[in-house]
Amino acid sequence: MKLTNINKSFGDNHVLQDISLDFPEHKTTVMVGPSGSGKSTILRSLNLLGMPDSGHYDFDDFHLDFSQKITNKQKLAVRRSTGMVFQDYNLFPNHTVLGNVIEGPTQVLKQPREQAIATAKDLLNKVGLSGYEKHYPNQLSGGQAQRVAIARALAMHPKYILLDEPTSALDPELEQEVLRVLLQLAHEKQSMVVVTHNMIFAQRVANKIIFVEHGQILYDGDPKEFFSPDNPNERIRKFIASMT
Ligand code: ADP
Ligand code: MG
Repeated sequence: MKLTNINKSFGDNHVLQDISLDFPEHKTTVMVGPSGSGKSTILRSLNLLGMPDSGHYDFDDFHLDFSQKITNKQKLAVRRSTGMVFQDYNLFPNHTVLGNVIEGPTQVLKQPREQAIATAKDLLNKVGLSGYEKHYPNQLSGGQAQRVAIARALAMHPKYILLDEPTSALDPELEQEVLRVLLQLAHEKQSMVVVTHNMIFAQRVANKIIFVEHGQILYDGDPKEFFSPDNPNERIRKFIASMT
């Protein structure tokens, strides 16, 4: 999927300044950069949770022009193809773990309940949470809750999983549980876009890295060169040093 010449302002704040990016399929693209640089705004554009003011978005058969009205049909199709995972999990507090994972498949995809449950159990096993089906979100650690959120996103079979600082709220030990799951998904060639401040993880998982600052793309390419001590861009070297 691909964004071209995207602009977005909030009042006088020109948050995305004519950015163009492509997010390859079956790869993990990692976005890094200082707070307030526009990373979440980019991710929200990919999910159409936030609409840019102008620019184009190409995704499979969809060619969206943000200077024109995006139809509900287009919104639904893009949202189904992009599963979002947030920093604060956003689980339904009054649903069990299993209830959280089958909600989308039964309500939106109209899957039969038995089928949704079978898939959910497989996914919970995959994220290391077999046996937690009947727990409620407030009975889980942050790391467990985030793994449920990942299983819930996967249950919709989206083409891309978009993760916005998925481990920023977690203690290091719990963070590792979540990162292990994401490394496994990357290994399985799940298409992902991940915003993270964890440079060690970024270096391990990224097939492609994007550095965003002040709503502009300062780097878009090979992680090896990005993380190299010989990276000619001093700003990027300083950023990485400040994060590690
Ligand atoms: P990041 O995720 O890199 O920290 P964001 O994309 O959240 O950055 O924010 C980029 C800029 O847009 C910031 O200056 C932020 O204050 C502003 N911004 C983001 N969302 C809104 C909003 N809903 N209303 C007004 N300003 C916003
Ligand atoms: Mg953000």
